[in-house]
Amino acid sequence: MLPAEVMLDYASGAAEEPVALAVATHLDLSPAAALQYQRLNAVGGALLDDIEPVALGADALDRMMALLDAEAQVAPVARAAGPVSAAVAGSPVPGPLQAYVGQSFETLRWRTLAPGVEEYVLPLGTRGFRTSLLRIAPGRAMPEHSHAGDEITVVIEGAFDDSCGQFRRGDIEFAGPALSHKPIADARMGCLCLAVLSAPVRLTGLLGWVVNPFLRV
Ligand code: ZN
Repeated sequence: MLPAEVMLDYASGAAEEPVALAVATHLDLSPAAALQYQRLNAVGGALLDDIEPVALGADALDRMMALLDAEAQVAPVARAAGPVSAAVAGSPVPGPLQAYVGQSFETLRWRTLAPGVEEYVLPLGTRGFRTSLLRIAPGRAMPEHSHAGDEITVVIEGAFDDSCGQFRRGDIEFAGPALSHKPIADARMGCLCLAVLSAPVRLTGLLGWVVNPFLRV
């Protein structure tokens, strides 16, 4: 579930490129989320009509004004990435990711992070973020870890489970510093996901003692 605050940041163009990419991918893969996003935009417009501007803080007013433009605007991530060719329909790569990945996941240079876990770091270069694709083999798990900052995960193919529940294609998970988890890929399908980290993760499980560059930002 996408927090309204994140949606507002995305709609107004205030979200950092990696966060915008995660949100755009989530909206591309989840019709329910896309509908919710459309409603938020509609509510934003209606609020602007019905409420005296003076009742809103300057920042809120700016955001609502930006919401009016949101429907017409291209996803912020596409603008941030510069000129991009139109997304190709039928590609297994979601439209918002195609500018970074191309048309196939198979041609990427995956590197192995752990047994059954591969990573491809996306060429975003936004300071303070690590944006990557993670491919986890069926039944394999990420090492248990907590987070120094925020972690956003969007499932592109397959599914994973952690202590918060099951996340399937199109689902998005927000993990903050309070959460320690050990995501496990679906036993049959495995999991391919987009992960955005705003700070390095901390290994907290049995592997925690290993000095490991795993998922450094
Ligand atoms: Zn995590």
